[in-house]
Amino acid sequence: MNEEQRKQQQGEWTSQDASSKNDKNSSKDYSKYFDFSKAQMEEDSNGKQYMKIGGRSILINEQPDYKKGKRRGKEDVEVHYNFSIPSEMQGIGAGKNYLIRTYGCQMNYHDTENMSGILEEMGFSETDKAEDADVIFLNTCAIRENAENKVFGEIGNLKTLKREKPELILGVCGCMSQEESVVNRIMQKHQHIDLIFGTHNIHRVPHLLKDAIQGKEMVIEVWSKEGDVVENMPRKRAGKTQAWVNIMYGCDKFCTYCIVPYTRGKERSRLPEDIIAEVRDLARQGYKEITLLGQNVNAYGKDLDREYGLGHLMDELHKIDIPRIRFTTSHPRDFDDHLVEVLSQGGNLVEHIHLPVQSGNNAVLKLMARKYTREQYVELARKIKEAMPHASFTTDLIVGFPNETEEQFQDTLSLVKEMDYDSAFTYIYSPRDGTPAAKMKDNVPMDVKKDRLARLNKVVNEISARRNKELQGQIVEVLVEGESKKNPDILSGRTRTNKLVNFRGPKSCIGEIVYTKITEAKTWTLDGEMVEMAEVNK
Ligand code: SAM
Ligand code: SF4
Repeated sequence: MNEEQRKQQQGEWTSQDASSKNDKNSSKDYSKYFDFSKAQMEEDSNGKQYMKIGGRSILINEQPDYKKGKRRGKEDVEVHYNFSIPSEMQGIGAGKNYLIRTYGCQMNYHDTENMSGILEEMGFSETDKAEDADVIFLNTCAIRENAENKVFGEIGNLKTLKREKPELILGVCGCMSQEESVVNRIMQKHQHIDLIFGTHNIHRVPHLLKDAIQGKEMVIEVWSKEGDVVENMPRKRAGKTQAWVNIMYGCDKFCTYCIVPYTRGKERSRLPEDIIAEVRDLARQGYKEITLLGQNVNAYGKDLDREYGLGHLMDELHKIDIPRIRFTTSHPRDFDDHLVEVLSQGGNLVEHIHLPVQSGNNAVLKLMARKYTREQYVELARKIKEAMPHASFTTDLIVGFPNETEEQFQDTLSLVKEMDYDSAFTYIYSPRDGTPAAKMKDNVPMDVKKDRLARLNKVVNEISARRNKELQGQIVEVLVEGESKKNPDILSGRTRTNKLVNFRGPKSCIGEIVYTKITEAKTWTLDGEMVEMAEVNK
C-alpha cells in the first residue's frame, strides 16, 4: 500500500507517515553534528547549565542519552493524579494562538490532544495557520528516515516565519526529540528553534513554555529515563465520535530495527480502574468508538502488581455501553489464549485484528528479534480466526531487511497469500541510528528493495481487492466519520472490520452508526448506499 492508498484506507492519522517509497539507503552522517569544540558551558547562580554555541545560548535542563533510554530499571512506576497548571502560567496564552503539526502514529496524535489541552488551559487558542500562531510545536516521528526528513524540511521552512516574527516560539517534541543526533543537529544547525522536549515530559509543557517565552535561550529538556504515569492531564480530543485511550506506554521488545523502545521508554501500564473510568466517561459523553493504544498492547498488565492482562481489561470494557472497542498494536508474541477467548464474545469488541508479522521467513524474524516463528504466527492467526470467523486481518511488513535474500522475500509473499490479509502496511527497512540492525552490513541494493516493495504491494492489493469484492451486495454497519475528503456530498465511515465505506446520506448521520449496502468494491475502499440508521442511535 502506498501513501495515497494508505490515506484512503486509514484516514488522516497516517497521512504524514508515508510508506517508505522514498526511503533511501541511509547515508546520513550525523557525526558532524557532534562537534561541539566551539561550544562553551556556563552555569548560573541557580545551578542552571547553559551552552553557548554559534551565537545562541541554550538552557539545557536535560539532554537525550541513548544509554539511559535503553536501560530497563526495576523501579516501580508511580501514578500521579495531581497535574495542575501553576497559577502564574495560566494566563500566559491569553490572546495568543498555537498550532501543533503532528507526524506519525496514533500515539503521537493522542499526545497532541494532551498538549492542546494543556495549551488551552494556559489560555492559548488553536489556529490552523502558521502565520497566526504564537507557538508552533512539531510533534515528530522517528520510525523511518523519510519521516525525519519531512520534519527537518518543515524546521527549515519555519525559519522565514521566525525571522518575520521573532517572538514566535518554535518547539520540537515527540520521538525525534528523544534522539541524541537530532537534538545535536538542531542545536548546531537550526538555532531558530526555541524549545525541545521529549515524549516523557509532556506534563512539563507549562514550565518549559514559560522558560522559552520569558528567556532568550533555546530550552532543552528531554528525559531519557521514562517518566511515571500522569493521569489527569487536560485533553482536547480531536473528535466527538471516536476517541483514543492510552492503556500503556513504551515498549520492551527491542526488535532490532526499531527505535521505539529508545524513544518511548520501558513498558508502563495504566491502572485498569483509570482506563475503565475514562472509557465510561467517554460512553457517557456519547462517543461511539474507542481505540485502546499502546506500542505493544498485548503486554498490557505485565508490569502491574496483579494477575491482569489485556484479556481481563477487554472483558471489563465489554460490559460498558459503548458500541465499538478496538485496540492497536498487537505483538504476536504476547497475544494469549485468554484474550482470544474474550474477543470471541463479539458485541462491542470489534472483529478486526492488526497483527504485524514483519516477515514470512524464520531466519529474518530471528534477526529482527521478533521472538516468534512463521509457524507460531500462523497457528495464532488460526486460533483467532476460529474464535472470530468474520474478523478482518491486517499486518505490517518490512522488505529489504539487511541481507534479505530473494528466497526469504518469497517467504514473505507466500505468507501474505497464506494469511489472505485484508490489507497491509508495507515498508522498506530504514536503518535507525543506535539500533542493532543499523550496525548490520547490508548487501541489498535500494533498487532491489524498491522492486520487492512493488511486488509485495501488488500481491497485497490483489488480495485486498478480492476480499473487498466478497462484501459486494452485503449490508454492513458503518460508523460515519464525516464528509469524504474528495467530495463533500459523500459521507465516509468505517465498518467494524475497519474498512472505509463511502456513501450518500444526510449530514445528520455524521457521528452515527448506519447500515449500508455495498454496491461497489474497490481495492482500498467500498462504495455503498445507506439502508437505515442502526438501532443504537434511535
Ligand atoms: N509495535 C508495533 C509492532 O511491533 O507491531 C509496531 C509499531 S511501529 C510504530 C509500526 C511499524 O513500523 C512496525 O510494525 C514496522 O513494520 C515499521 N517499522 C518500525 N521500524 C522500522 C524501520 N526501521 N524500518 C522500516 N519499518 C519500520
Ligand atoms: Fe518497535 Fe513494535 Fe518491536 Fe516494540 S514491538 S520494538 S514498537 S516494532
